[in-house]
Amino acid sequence: MARRSWAEPYKIKMVELIKMTSPEERLRAITEAGYNTFLLRSEDVYIDLLTDSGVGAMSDRQWAGLMMGDEAYAGSRNFYHLRDTVEEYYSYKYTVPTHQGRGAENIISQMLISEGDYIPGNMYFTTTRLHQELAGGTFVDVIVDEAHDPESVHPFKGNVDFNKLNALLNEVGAEKIPYVCIATCVNMAGGQPISMANLRQLREWCDNNGIMLVHDMTRVAENAFFIQQREKGFEDASIQQIVYEICSLTDAATMSSKKDAMVNIGGFLAMNDAKLYERACALVVVYEGLHTYGGMAGRDMEALAIGITESVDDNHIRARVGQVEYLGELLKKAGVPIVNPIGGHAVFLDARRILPHLPQEQFPAQALAAALYLESGVRAMERGVVSAGRNKDTGENYMPRLELVRLTIPRRVYTQAHMDVTAESVIDVMERADQIKGLRFTYEPEVLRFFQARFEPVN
Ligand SMILES: *Cc1c(COP(=O)(O)O)cnc(C)c1O
Repeated sequence: MARRSWAEPYKIKMVELIKMTSPEERLRAITEAGYNTFLLRSEDVYIDLLTDSGVGAMSDRQWAGLMMGDEAYAGSRNFYHLRDTVEEYYSYKYTVPTHQGRGAENIISQMLISEGDYIPGNMYFTTTRLHQELAGGTFVDVIVDEAHDPESVHPFKGNVDFNKLNALLNEVGAEKIPYVCIATCVNMAGGQPISMANLRQLREWCDNNGIMLVHDMTRVAENAFFIQQREKGFEDASIQQIVYEICSLTDAATMSSKKDAMVNIGGFLAMNDAKLYERACALVVVYEGLHTYGGMAGRDMEALAIGITESVDDNHIRARVGQVEYLGELLKKAGVPIVNPIGGHAVFLDARRILPHLPQEQFPAQALAAALYLESGVRAMERGVVSAGRNKDTGENYMPRLELVRLTIPRRVYTQAHMDVTAESVIDVMERADQIKGLRFTYEPEVLRFFQARFEPVN
């Protein structure tokens, strides 16, 4: 039987008009933005694939939920709805709302990390690592080697390499490792999943060594989809079941609900330990707000609770990942080098292979993202040396093997025709790749430099 196309399990009720721009307007815009797509005005963007964060389309039910907001300072009805939903779908007993994911990362890092600690993880994430460092810790990458190889087709590039984990344990001892930080559908590896088998083994390892397991669950539903598709024994499990099992293998979680859960703002810290919850409540009042709203409006907590239930729907996730695969397949067919396998939330262009004439010191991925915007008004993001930043001790640039441009697909926002236009634009840019110049900094912020750095072309 021929393969059936994926299609969205929804129809469009309202549309948002977008602006088309001329090449002259785009040149002016990217120059003013210092060749950093983060500094473009959204109005100057045609198809916005900068991020999948906070840019998803809410459903009519979520919008209706906004009207059910209980904006009480303390004890909002929506908080209890959110807390119960987190426990029902994600297994965690206690929930502390935060304004977004990094708010939760700040609190967990402050609670668990002491000066001189090490936090192993399956590849770094920008804000996660920064909060670990601010708390006095050092992040150690223990992801499998395949994750750093864009050409490897390993089905679970998010897996932990236990040789690396044990090497760290032997070197520094369990007392210097407060927790292992595990991301589902690893963003920086290209949206690549961790397998249930690997997670179960990790749970055992943590139990044996008395070390906590903390889950960055930002994209847990997308990870569950890959387990369902690729891992033996899960063919008949629902996304909801797999998500629940993943979460119940971990002790605590940080969530950016702007991704999987399809709200524009929000996040939470969740956990099972009552004592830890007490400490989190004491910290959240300092940084976010009272423990029953933590920086979120009541209405936003309601939309989030509803978004969580929609995010674990099998038909939703199949169409969501299906659209990403559709774009990836178009590019692959045209010979564009991308990270394989195609990820859950984005297609990653391999800038090293597209711009082989540019040394990494000239930020090939940053230059490629700027060139793509100039070509067609499609906005993408650099995930390479600029995002990686500098080593906090030596001041040297981290030189990641992966030098990527991320085409991130917002959830439920764009159509198949938008994916066609995006692919056509990338192919056009590739055809004149040898004319793309490298970049150099004109302004480099000290931390999270990719957000606000400015560049100019190197002549
Ligand atoms: C987005 C993201 C975060 C941070 O969440 P924010 O809501 O942006 O603060 C943390 N981890 C991962 C994997 C993310 O993608």
